[in-house]
Amino acid sequence: MSAASLYPVRPEVAAQSLTDEASYKALYQQSVVNPDGFWREQAARLDWIRAFTTVKQTSFDDHHVDIKWFADGTLNVSANCLDRHLEERGDAPAIIWEGDDPSEQRTITYRELHREVSKFANALRGQDVHRGDVVTIYMPMIPEVAVAMLACARIGAVHSVVFGGFSPEALAGRIIDGNSKVVITADEGLRGGKKVPLKENVDEALTNPRTRCVQKIIVVRRTGGDIKWNQHRDIWYDELMHVAGEICAPKEMGAEEPLFILYTSGSTGKPKGVLHTCAGYLLYVSLTHERVFDYRPGEVFWCTADVGWVTGHSYIVYGPLANGATTLMYEGVPNYPDVTRIAQIIDKHKVNILYTAPTAIRAMMAEGSAAVEGADGSSLRLLGSVGEPINPEAWHWYYETVGKSRCPIVDTWWQTETGGILISPLPGATALKPGSATRPFFGVVPGLVDNLGNLLEGAAEGNLVILDSWPGQMRSIYRDHDRFVDTYFKTFRGMYFTGDGARRDEDGYYWITGRVDDVLNVSGHRMGTAEIESAMVAHRKVAEAAVVGVPHPVKGQGIYVYVTLIHGEEPTDQLRQELQQWVRKEIGPIAVPDTIQWTTGLPKTRSGKIMRRILRKIATDDFDSLGDLSTLADPGVVQQLIDTHKAIQ
Ligand code: ATP
Ligand code: MG
Repeated sequence: MSAASLYPVRPEVAAQSLTDEASYKALYQQSVVNPDGFWREQAARLDWIRAFTTVKQTSFDDHHVDIKWFADGTLNVSANCLDRHLEERGDAPAIIWEGDDPSEQRTITYRELHREVSKFANALRGQDVHRGDVVTIYMPMIPEVAVAMLACARIGAVHSVVFGGFSPEALAGRIIDGNSKVVITADEGLRGGKKVPLKENVDEALTNPRTRCVQKIIVVRRTGGDIKWNQHRDIWYDELMHVAGEICAPKEMGAEEPLFILYTSGSTGKPKGVLHTCAGYLLYVSLTHERVFDYRPGEVFWCTADVGWVTGHSYIVYGPLANGATTLMYEGVPNYPDVTRIAQIIDKHKVNILYTAPTAIRAMMAEGSAAVEGADGSSLRLLGSVGEPINPEAWHWYYETVGKSRCPIVDTWWQTETGGILISPLPGATALKPGSATRPFFGVVPGLVDNLGNLLEGAAEGNLVILDSWPGQMRSIYRDHDRFVDTYFKTFRGMYFTGDGARRDEDGYYWITGRVDDVLNVSGHRMGTAEIESAMVAHRKVAEAAVVGVPHPVKGQGIYVYVTLIHGEEPTDQLRQELQQWVRKEIGPIAVPDTIQWTTGLPKTRSGKIMRRILRKIATDDFDSLGDLSTLADPGVVQQLIDTHKAIQ
């Protein structure tokens, strides 16, 4: 590939930022040489009820995987996110909420949020919810979702947030897995001007006999639409709040008591119920939110993820609120009422930091510059990306068109399992290379291993592992510790295996190449999907591309690419040849696609990630065993892809 461009830290950015190059190096060094000392010091950013005496007690030994941080300390997560800010920042906005309809908005101060959370915590107690009970939250993106999460944390209940776009079956599965006592939902959600029948979906989920664990459904009134009501089981949120007391002492929780369960996106298979605990998680998301986004008091931080994903947990709710920040929560979708919505929200609320996903960036990019037409954008200071590798082409578009070549981009690599960001630039410390997540965060020791588990030194490419624990790490798969050990610690013994592949360059920068299950082996050359896809997307007519390997009689594996074109471009045989030539020039003959299938859509998870495992099956005519499709955003796209695939064979 052509030499990567380098964007050095501009002196004025370094001067204003919390971490410059020298302090990154010094702190990073300290964090890995003496993790106990480093994290002991950092832990002072939280309010503890009982001080801890031990810091790190962790083992990656596959016979005895055990991860504990600050084990004898106690604290309460909601008190850290709310109570301690009241004195200084009680009247500052905690949440700015922007409705699906541009005319709707709310601002909730820390004092107001504290009151709502305390009341709802009392209400939950009144419904017999106790420490350790699992509460399922199936809600739209409205402030009450944060109230519900923090209220659980306040009384020591464990929340399990299920994305509001999931089907009744997917919801039932997660309710059953958590043995949940209470479900919190809304009458209906609103997304892109359409109503989402949330309560009806819960009713349907609860027809599954294995959901008998559920005793109550608490319903927030969002649209006022007609819903069915079960007198014995359903309760209105506002009626509970009307009578709830305003004072609720936060429960003293052990550092290692569960805070939440959250299921992974399901890109590679059946979602896993990831368990996070109180102290280590909160410390890690708070520190990463401050340092990666270089957050300064008073700034407006907007993470566009849904709270149903880990990104929403860590960087809409817990990280920002632990830091006393103002977090923007948006109810709707990026292109409603039209493609300029993101830019309009930025201007309206003077957003300083925007954190979004490559899928959203590519969708805006496909419209040319229409997405920012008429927008000012001058409040923006920093941009972030998460969820998939960001193709350099999309990076440049984001940098130039959204950030006006002024705002650094933090490409943050992490997982549901990791709790918070593990590899990312720090804006004042790290020169950027488009497409690279760059360097590890404090306390994170990444490694690359070959397929036998041998550690690779220097510039290399291999399986991405993490060699030692960090406080935000998941502790287990809920009620299935064996699956936890098998999934993450057995492939390469003594190491946490991420499932991703990566390349480390001569500067020690990491480039995520994609899922290792998706790696291609063409005539003996191993290639990540990200590199070929990025080359395709770099062509000005291509909006999105997904690459999979298919059996090939000579090369072992051939390259099959699904391509969507920029708005208004025509798929022709000539363009197909042009794209093949293009890849030959960009990467080399080895990467030239054997087949290009045009499509108007790709199968994506609800969180916007391309599901290559489905594409692989389609490309190899294996239509009958497509696997778990429950996390798919638009199931209709699969049949279309199968039909077009058959037509070109
Ligand atoms: P499942 O584990 O159920 O298959 P998933 O891996 O998509 O689902 P998440 O935890 O939401 O579930 O996603 C984490 C994955 O997303 C990472 O392992 C990586 O593949 C990808 N990812 C996230 N951020 C980045 C990034 N900045 N660059 C490259 N890849 C990223
Ligand atoms: Mg995963």
